[in-house]
Amino acid sequence: MVTMIINSLVAALALATAPADSLPPDVDYRIEAILDEEAEVLRARAELRYTNHATTALDTLWLHQHLNAFRPNSAWAQRELEFGNRRFQDLGPEAHAFERLSTVTVDGTEVNPVYPGSPDSTVVALPLPSPLSPGSTAVVRMDWTARPSTLPRRQGRRGRHYDFAQWYPRIAAHTDEGWQVQPLLPQGEFFGEFGSYDVTLDLAADQVVGATGVPVEGDPGWADAAAPGQAAPRLGADAYAPLQARSLGLLADAPEQGRKRIRWRAEDVHHFAWSADPEFIYEGGEASISGPNTGPILVHVLYLPGDDDWSGGTALSRTITALDWFQSMLGAYPWPQLTNLHRIESGGTEFPMLVMNGSASEGLIVHEVAHQFFHGVLANNEFREGWLDEGVASFLTDWYHETQGNPDVWLPSLRGIIQLERSGRTQPISTPGADFADPEIYSAMTYTKAELVLRMLRWMVGEEVMLRALRTLYDRHALSHIDEEDFRAAFAEVYPEDLGWFFDQWLHTTAQLDYSIAEANTRQLPDGSWYTSVAVEREGDAWMPVTLQIAEETGLLTGDGRRQELQVTTQSRPAEVVLDPENVLIDVNPSNNRSPVSGP
Ligand SMILES: [Zn+2]
Repeated sequence: MVTMIINSLVAALALATAPADSLPPDVDYRIEAILDEEAEVLRARAELRYTNHATTALDTLWLHQHLNAFRPNSAWAQRELEFGNRRFQDLGPEAHAFERLSTVTVDGTEVNPVYPGSPDSTVVALPLPSPLSPGSTAVVRMDWTARPSTLPRRQGRRGRHYDFAQWYPRIAAHTDEGWQVQPLLPQGEFFGEFGSYDVTLDLAADQVVGATGVPVEGDPGWADAAAPGQAAPRLGADAYAPLQARSLGLLADAPEQGRKRIRWRAEDVHHFAWSADPEFIYEGGEASISGPNTGPILVHVLYLPGDDDWSGGTALSRTITALDWFQSMLGAYPWPQLTNLHRIESGGTEFPMLVMNGSASEGLIVHEVAHQFFHGVLANNEFREGWLDEGVASFLTDWYHETQGNPDVWLPSLRGIIQLERSGRTQPISTPGADFADPEIYSAMTYTKAELVLRMLRWMVGEEVMLRALRTLYDRHALSHIDEEDFRAAFAEVYPEDLGWFFDQWLHTTAQLDYSIAEANTRQLPDGSWYTSVAVEREGDAWMPVTLQIAEETGLLTGDGRRQELQVTTQSRPAEVVLDPENVLIDVNPSNNRSPVSGP
């Protein structure tokens, strides 16, 4: 009880002293869009209602137009040129992506978009006709045309297949530190503001569509596309309380002959993405664990003819298994559906309620479903702290594989990172995406080393504490932004010992770990047992607790000294001593972790 009172006092104080601008804005998108397949262009209109909850007035709204990355002279294309990659720089006028605003009004007054990073046009400023005071709402109307690139990168188009990621002017996140805007670059993905989406798509009648959200009106095409034996698809259209669509006028007339309209809604998401392909084949089911208040969580899979690795329920059951597992590990999935569809590009990308994947491999599906939790629900700034979702998703994916009978799943990653450590090319894991020297180091630090660091953390605190910390993080911050501080705070809440040194060392430095056995001697005692003395040296600058195995006994060295000693009595004569026998530590020189024991 005393603790509770103190805790609530601390909470009250924290509230009183926290900057009041920590409240996120309300973001409400209504979009109408027409996909003109002949012209290969999407014509769209949006109404964005943006309510400022910062303490100060805003004179500008900042948005991202990420499709403009996939064209010549974008910041993305320029960055890739530095590494000799000309793929987007050389895309012709018919091939590259674009997202072009034509008319923009704010509260009825026309405004001129400003592109401060020109020729890059992935960041756009909308100067407001009058300052938007705290608590006030700006109504932004935008008309634009958009087209994915023929060379896919997250988004793409091929024939009648369209992957529409990052296809609308997307409001930038506004945090305590102000607007979070950055040109889209190859290193780092997303950071978005949570909001509601009400999107009506006008498409050819035979298109089959998967999207963020639920189809509340119209036919996404799943019934006609259902795989043989598939029960009638459930749309889940009743997941949200009914809401009359605000007409924006673009779809004022009835759809033309041979066309249809589908209206989608999504709440509490920071991104809305969708794909369409008339060849999509549909399979559906539901998660074994229901959502908190939405009834069953529907799972939809859309794949293509010839996808033998997806069909027959394979991709569907992998998606459901992954979703169930993450819910059991972290907590309830807060949305009414999850769609996994076969996109043009290989690899995978996460969007709220939607993963676009290039294959149905179990590892890829588990990784992308992990992102529903770490980035979808707990939304970090991937440009700044990519490890917080990519590293955690990679860690959780290998944890999943471990529970499926593959305890050695970590070893290839460990070998790769040790090799990279020895080359001296590492950078701190916490480095912002764009500041990594090259794509290889970005990926190795953000995904792979981070995954191994989290595995070391789990080994050190134990699986139960690890889970409790992740669940605490999930409980506290579901459907909001998180950063490293929140991650640390969750561990501090459930683990009594200070872990600051661990996070400082492994996330913010490139200090290397290298334990070695300096001496190992044994002698027999009068009672026949063996007394063994081992000296361990720490050669690298980093330190960790380390296990030492001597015959059937193990000891734990917990100091950060340069030399530590351990004495052990065993029944049999130990032949050798082994440091870190479970291969958990990122020890840059594992060859000196094992030594024969000297003595009689
Ligand atoms: Zn990922």
